[in-house]
Amino acid sequence: MIREGFAVIGCTRCRRMQVADLAHATKTCICGHKIDLAKTKLLAVSDSADEAGAILRSFTAPKNSGFVSAASMHSSSLADKTPKKDK
Ligand SMILES: [Zn+2]
Repeated sequence: MIREGFAVIGCTRCRRMQVADLAHATKTCICGHKIDLAKTKLLAVSDSADEAGAILRSFTAPKNSGFVSAASMHSSSLADKTPKKDK
């Protein structure tokens, strides 16, 4: 049975959160891990990829501005800021 829509899922190996198209049975994470969409927990489901992406960003958004969290490891480079060390 094919479901429609997009889900926010988390990779069980590298913990990255990402948007998966539910029309597919699996989603391959950028770490190479194949995620079975029938078995993984869907953190959120949306009709549109854009909306799912917005939900994903709300999940991965840093709690405090200026603080770089692990979420910044995500490859989507909206903010391409490289923190520099103080002298
Ligand atoms: Zn992964």
